[in-house]
Amino acid sequence: KIYRCDVVVVGGGPGGSMAAKFCAQGGLDTIMIEKKAEIGAPLRCAEGVSKKWLEEVGIEPDPTWICADMVGAVIRSPSGYEFKLDESQAGSEVGYVLERHLFDKALARDAVAAGARIMMRTSCTDVIKENGKLIGIKCKSMGEKIEIHAKAIVAADGFESQVGRWAGIETKLDLNDICSCLQYRMVNADIDPEYCEFDIGMKIAPGGYLWIFPKGNGVANVGIGVMGKLCKNADAKKYLDKFIAEDPRFKNSQAVEVVAGMVSTCPGLDCAVADNIILVGDAARIIDPITGGGICHACRTGMYAGQVLTECAKTGDFSKKALMPYEKMWRDRMEDKLYRNWMAKERLAELDDDTIDELVKLISGSDIKEVNVYNLLKVIKERFPKVVEGFEDLI
Ligand code: FAD
Repeated sequence: KIYRCDVVVVGGGPGGSMAAKFCAQGGLDTIMIEKKAEIGAPLRCAEGVSKKWLEEVGIEPDPTWICADMVGAVIRSPSGYEFKLDESQAGSEVGYVLERHLFDKALARDAVAAGARIMMRTSCTDVIKENGKLIGIKCKSMGEKIEIHAKAIVAADGFESQVGRWAGIETKLDLNDICSCLQYRMVNADIDPEYCEFDIGMKIAPGGYLWIFPKGNGVANVGIGVMGKLCKNADAKKYLDKFIAEDPRFKNSQAVEVVAGMVSTCPGLDCAVADNIILVGDAARIIDPITGGGICHACRTGMYAGQVLTECAKTGDFSKKALMPYEKMWRDRMEDKLYRNWMAKERLAELDDDTIDELVKLISGSDIKEVNVYNLLKVIKERFPKVVEGFEDLI
């Protein structure tokens, strides 16, 4: 069976739903496919987002998907030095802990309200080319082989992204740019319900960090991300289990959910478009290399993709050249920050625990008005210029 549309979006995560919504709003006949049986589940996220970007992409905060509203955040060094920041300083780095499965479904609902069609349990298995030109995708839909022919494809298929590669876009990652993550949903934990916590240091989480994101009622997402280059396969579990076993706040706590997943920590693909295809969100490796936060990036890039495809539809030209405004939009908005945070991540991964203790002591004693990665790096630049060598002009 062959379905036909203007744009087919592969993947029903935040990037896919936003792209589908903006394509449909622009009058394009849009189909979004999702291989899983439920949008937003199973969970593969710590569910932390800042608040500022929501307005930028036209998402109204909604209590149905906000699980907890944070007052601040705590950064803890290996020896237990703490840097605590509250909402007045935390700026763009603090925000909500989501019910991610409800958030993703809300975005899918918005796409449908704008006119997009959704095909669940539909997995893209290949792209279709005719005389070298992309004309659609092959899928398995509820067990049936189908084709969807479209003028353009949005690859929103997340970290494991294959669609871009099938279309000829290089999406390979270096081992240092892969962070493996493991998270437990802990219950009955004795944690501060209003602060997100980030624990850093070689002995805690080599090349990454450990997080505690409270969800209310003694429930928290407690997880870890470790750098691929510095760790073996099972190391994430080893470090996470050790932390939980040694922290008295989890003495009477147990895990009721386990989440494993990967995050890319590079500054984005060299080029996220080709003839008749755009890559968004994790598929385009557009994710903050230092925090691993990718929901806002997926939403932004999904929106840009929808806007650019709407423009292209006016002339019927979906060539790489016509899609290049998408490259410009995401680079103008995010490239410098992604590159700077990628460099910072590389450097921080080289620091020993004593230096990290010193850094945390330094920033807790400094007078930072608004705390974000940029301002933290500015303070570090003054005292430890070596840490920011090579990208100091971005700070
Ligand atoms: P995804 O949300 O991954 O969506 C891709 C979708 O495509 C999936 O639903 C998938 O099933 C579908 N799909 C894949 N292949 C196919 C196919 N062939 N056919 C059809 N459908 C397909 N970010 C934050 O901002 N805050 C956090 O706290 C946070 N914590 C994280 C914790 C962990 C453990 C991990 C792994 C990631 C975390 N992230 C976090 C990153 C965040 O989850 C991603 O950046 C975000 O989900 C990217 O959205 P996306 O739409 O690009 O991809």
